[in-house]
Amino acid sequence: MAVAEDLEVSRFLREQPKKLFIGGRWIESASGKTFDTLDPSSGEVLAKVAEAGAEDIDRAVAAARRSFESGVWRDLPPAERAKVLWRIGDLIEERALEFAQLDSLDNGMPINDALLFYVPLAAATFRYYAGWVTKLDGATQQVSLPGRYLSYTLRQPVGVVGQIIPWNFPIVMAAWKLAPALACGNSVVLKPAEETPLSALLLAELMQQAEVPDGVANVVPGPGETAGARLASHPDVDKIAFTGSTQVGKLIAKASADSNLKRVSLELGGKSPNIVFADADLTQAVSGAFFGMFLNQGQVCSAGSRLFVQSKVYDRTLEELVKTVEETRLGPGIDPVNQMGPVVSKAQMDRVLGYIAVGNQEGARVIAGGGRAKELGPGYFVQPTVFADVDGKMRIAQEEIFGPVVAAIPFEDEDDLIEKANSTIYGLAAGVWTTNVKRAHRVAHALRAGTVFVNCYHIVDPVTPWGGFKQSGWGRELGPQALDLYTELKNVILDIS
Ligand code: NDP
Repeated sequence: MAVAEDLEVSRFLREQPKKLFIGGRWIESASGKTFDTLDPSSGEVLAKVAEAGAEDIDRAVAAARRSFESGVWRDLPPAERAKVLWRIGDLIEERALEFAQLDSLDNGMPINDALLFYVPLAAATFRYYAGWVTKLDGATQQVSLPGRYLSYTLRQPVGVVGQIIPWNFPIVMAAWKLAPALACGNSVVLKPAEETPLSALLLAELMQQAEVPDGVANVVPGPGETAGARLASHPDVDKIAFTGSTQVGKLIAKASADSNLKRVSLELGGKSPNIVFADADLTQAVSGAFFGMFLNQGQVCSAGSRLFVQSKVYDRTLEELVKTVEETRLGPGIDPVNQMGPVVSKAQMDRVLGYIAVGNQEGARVIAGGGRAKELGPGYFVQPTVFADVDGKMRIAQEEIFGPVVAAIPFEDEDDLIEKANSTIYGLAAGVWTTNVKRAHRVAHALRAGTVFVNCYHIVDPVTPWGGFKQSGWGRELGPQALDLYTELKNVILDIS
């Protein structure tokens, strides 16, 4: 284990292997198996982690079910539940440096991004949903039938919730899932991604410290094909919330249909258009094109990976973008001088390099990057890459690469643009850069995307509903909309005549 001893997080990492958190206890997996989680900047083992299999998922679901039926959490006075959630937010903030170091080491992300944006967003998400606990109100209905009736609605927790998350923003993904589910009184089994299980385990420690009752929040790292699949098809799980690829999202929906028709919400992939009109402030638009694409090494579901630029300013915009890319400092994320880190794994690096080869074969032109940053050693570093003169039908313009590769596509006018921008199977996000306010709204209305950023990109807050059109998913997380995902609406009708 090659982690520097002077990091704040070394104490947490010292205890090996990391165990599963089930029913309020830290336990080995039933099989005794562990897996290695790697530091992608070196390829070395960062930690050994107990590997949950189907039997462990069954144990975690049983613990969640017991806690749910006992009422220990769902029947707690709302203000008490709210205090616990608020306290989790506080504890995340107190341990912010450790979370940032863990996600930087495990995922590869720049430590400053983790510390300044992602960890605070995770804390803010718990606090935001702490505020909702006391406001899960129903309504009354005016019944027009003969006689007198009192009709009202209640919001009740769905029950046992399974949650499966990806590796790209580990602590943020865990918070987006756990906070609203717990706020609504559910009991949860969370399966983090195998590549990045560590910050969710630290979060489990803090949830226990904040006095989330035993069995209410269980954290079980393990492979998707076994642990994840068991959770998705488990007959005693009432709802599954999944974030990941569209391909696996379809398996989750099928597993629900083939088992107990558990409720399903899906936050899936994207191939988002980031659109620069000739009337945009080009300095802002170029930095938005860079940030929209290369944040977190492009491993962002909403990455602006199709950069549409109006022909009149196409050459100038790309020239400026290439300059910015070339000035970017690539290196291990844990070193605060670096602005971009490695991609998360060798498999991810091979996938991204494979797509760069596809782009070359398809006849697109590399104008920046275009390969592995070999000078940085054995870590999984891919140069930020810009393809120019991309045709919208090429695979690099249609398929989600999930790495630092942007496809620049010229367009002539608004009509031409809208058709091109909407022509993928995805509909997660989009960006529009223009100084014309009418155009901004017109285009925002016409784009088939769950979120449209105008003259900004990647602005995400606990209040902003998040999710996609088309094959980018089902449902909306964050905002009050997430409460719909984690509650059942019950109608009670009394004859009061
Ligand atoms: P995957 O779909 O491969 O994996 C996501 C999660 O699903 C992981 O925990 C994985 O486990 C698990 N999983 C894999 N196979 C199965 C299965 N058969 N049954 C149940 N669970 C399974 O996605 P990635 O981790 O590669 O993440 C990248 C994808 O996530 C991209 O497509 C990206 O766009 C999307 N994403 C979407 C977001 C959104 O908000 N819309 C946000 C972030 C990412 P394991 O990896 O441990 O095997």
